[in-house]
Amino acid sequence: MTDRSRRLLVVDDERIQRLIVTRAVESVGFVVDGAADFDEAAEFLSRRTYDAIVLDLSLGAREGVSLLHMLRRGGADPLVVLISGMDTRVRSASCRLAEALGLRIAGSIEKPIVPAKLRALLQDVPRREAVEDVAPAVMPSATELANALDRDEIMVAFQPKVALVSRGVAGMEALARWHPAGAEPVPPDLFVPLAERHGLIAKLTRNVLRDSLAACRRWRDRHPDCSVAVNISPLALANPELPEEIEAALAQAGVAPGALIAEVTEGVVIADPLLASEVLTRLRIKGVRVSIDDFGTGHSSLLSLMRLPFTELKIDRSFVACCDTDPEAWKIIRATISLAHELGLDVVAEGVETAAVEARLIGAGCDIGQGWRFGRPMPAAALEAWFGAHALTLA
Ligand code: C2E
Ligand code: MG
Ligand code: MG
Repeated sequence: MTDRSRRLLVVDDERIQRLIVTRAVESVGFVVDGAADFDEAAEFLSRRTYDAIVLDLSLGAREGVSLLHMLRRGGADPLVVLISGMDTRVRSASCRLAEALGLRIAGSIEKPIVPAKLRALLQDVPRREAVEDVAPAVMPSATELANALDRDEIMVAFQPKVALVSRGVAGMEALARWHPAGAEPVPPDLFVPLAERHGLIAKLTRNVLRDSLAACRRWRDRHPDCSVAVNISPLALANPELPEEIEAALAQAGVAPGALIAEVTEGVVIADPLLASEVLTRLRIKGVRVSIDDFGTGHSSLLSLMRLPFTELKIDRSFVACCDTDPEAWKIIRATISLAHELGLDVVAEGVETAAVEARLIGAGCDIGQGWRFGRPMPAAALEAWFGAHALTLA
């Protein structure tokens, strides 16, 4: 047993189940600790970091769900497998809860445990060597972010959106990237909220918009129908000048308004819905398209759909990623696609990673897919090569 073995914690009140899990995973190189209840698990977690956790959802008085919360707070990032004797609805709901908490969920399996199924779910746990080389992302300060914005250190990566039936390229989504010199990259899920809290979001939006439109102008010479989608924070919608600022940026870059899609999420509650509605409506009148992002995760997605002039709906990847294995997610996707089409909106599925998910989405009439299956976010300089390779897959 070396330090480099992958470590797994199994939490189950039945000793026999802990043994089954231990036997199943030791053969593929895991070192296993077993905990019978919440307190024992908490004790192990306070002493060690684990690469994977196998967790029984029905742990006596303090349920497995409390442990999910604890895992999240601990800041560790193990891959989680849920086991349960309960029905698929409860298992799926727990998976979604764990995902919403930001945990990495490999999936859920039912009792009695089939060892091969468990091993299959754990096959993506990286070897220790790789894990130890990666330093966790450190929260930067607002001053560092402000400096990075002043020095134009926030870059834009582009991820393809592909028409599912024709496989034509519908557009690219612009995603902000920050890689401070000599440090680990900071994910947008950390620095975008930081910008929102410290009055830096307008500047971030402006810089991303400028770079995205410049790149779009270049690729439209050869791919005239390819749009660019820029994420607009709900806080930026509180600026009544936004439509004119965007119009000026479009004119400066020489890009037609119809080539731009403004993606709006409801991660932050819209403080002034009337003003947000006015800003989005004026953008629409100017010819810019407007998309509701991460649909299904917001506080008032349906209300927003009714009030705001969206042209596109993006189904959040927490529904998409598991739609071939989770019957509930699949029903929600089908209903969402038909609702969006009733309202005349294009539907984009985010997080399409596999051929199985793609096939399902095509069957359900989804218009556009975005995800690793088609392309990861990449620098503008890599796009032409991607376009070329993509064209080859169509030939
Ligand atoms: P989003 O707008 O929903 O962007 C899609 C996210 O899903 C991106 O994460 C993308 O890298 C990731 N993704 C795409 N396909 C797959 C897949 O197949 N599998 C998986 N696991 N992930 C996939 P990213 O780049 O980390 O961005 C996270 C969020 O940060 C974005 O979510 C968006 O809300 C926000 N964000 C990024 N750039 C900006 C920006 O310039 N302005 C604002 N306001 N927000 C931004
Ligand atoms: Mg987006
Ligand atoms: Mg999204």
